[in-house]
Amino acid sequence: MTFDPSSEIQDYQVFGEFGDVNPSISDSSTYTFLQAETMEELFEHEITGCFLYSRHWNPINKYLSSALATLENTKAAQVTASGMAAISCALLQLCCQGDEIISNRTIYGGTYALFKNFLPKFGINTKFADLKDLATLTALITDRTRLLYCEAMSNPLLELADLPQLAKIARDHGLTLVVDNTFSPLIISPARLGADIVIHSMTKFINGTSDCVAGCICASSEFIHQLTDVNTGAGMLLGPVLDSFRSASLLKNLHSLHIRVQKHSANAAYLANRLETLGFRVFYPGLPSHPQHELMKRLMNPGFGFGGILALDVGDRQTANKLMVLMQEEKVGYLAVSLGYFKTLFSSPGHSTSSEIPREEQEAMGISNGLIRLSVGLDNDIERTCKRMESCIERVGLLQTSMS
Ligand code: PLP
Repeated sequence: MTFDPSSEIQDYQVFGEFGDVNPSISDSSTYTFLQAETMEELFEHEITGCFLYSRHWNPINKYLSSALATLENTKAAQVTASGMAAISCALLQLCCQGDEIISNRTIYGGTYALFKNFLPKFGINTKFADLKDLATLTALITDRTRLLYCEAMSNPLLELADLPQLAKIARDHGLTLVVDNTFSPLIISPARLGADIVIHSMTKFINGTSDCVAGCICASSEFIHQLTDVNTGAGMLLGPVLDSFRSASLLKNLHSLHIRVQKHSANAAYLANRLETLGFRVFYPGLPSHPQHELMKRLMNPGFGFGGILALDVGDRQTANKLMVLMQEEKVGYLAVSLGYFKTLFSSPGHSTSSEIPREEQEAMGISNGLIRLSVGLDNDIERTCKRMESCIERVGLLQTSMS
């Protein structure tokens, strides 16, 4: 049966304290009690509708968390102050000293740095592998392996994780499958494909206005309870709380996500097709030339397209830099990191968002020096944007080269 997460979100309804259509933002770090015993009880376990201290929980973070659980079809969720807070808290909750992570090798540079440089300080080590190669992955599993980690659609090369296959391997070996779904909200529903924990950097598509940093962890009620336990939970003790005001704006933006994702996808598909026709090497899962196009069609929920991100190889770093500056001047978009904004954003991953990954490893993954990642905006007239981009491409002398 097909799943439509946008209908689930549409049915997610909350009433503010005065019947407000947007629930009120509680502008308090602490909450009063009429009975001292209730306060004591709340330290022991959650009491529905009762709040103690905003770093633990507050009403708007509860609302946003349950809307996100609805989006990802999980039983529960916790919102966090960034995507990295979501990843680090989830992993520190799952892993103990001596545990091992097996991670896909193409992941966001910050996550790579967390695994490679930071977690080893706590005795948690990561083996990086190409998770498309299931035999190699299986051979890496030892009795120390605790979890498999991947991005549903990888940053920046738009590789797909074969989630049903990975979920089977995880189940067979008693591992937890953790999936970062930042690039493909609504498009892919990892929990329905077997993931145990789904993470987002909400800084990106879910918020969509590039005005805040936020994240979330969607998982079973049991895991979210562990994470938010005041005595032992990483989600409480590391203090990744999301500010209530941001939470409120995120909740509102979540309700237009389906329309934005459809438009981002349609615009990205247009550009990807055109750039490929011009002779460029384009990475976009909606193109039949993408090696995992068929897998993508099996994984995706219908109606949201193939996503708003594409990558384009223009050969070398100098040309990439020249082209991006020109594209900014000609109002194609902004030379900036991040993604999911209503305007087009572009950057060179090898020298920005993936720069934490050593150059030789980048080359092995396929992140070339001339790679440009584009997060395609909500332009009403993408043909006009495309013509501007083509004129920039021509001005850096690429059109003939790429077509020859
Ligand atoms: N996951 C992915 C796939 C990302 O691209 C990023 C940031 O670019 C993150 C996680 C980290 O998110 P944040 O910047 O919100 O901490």
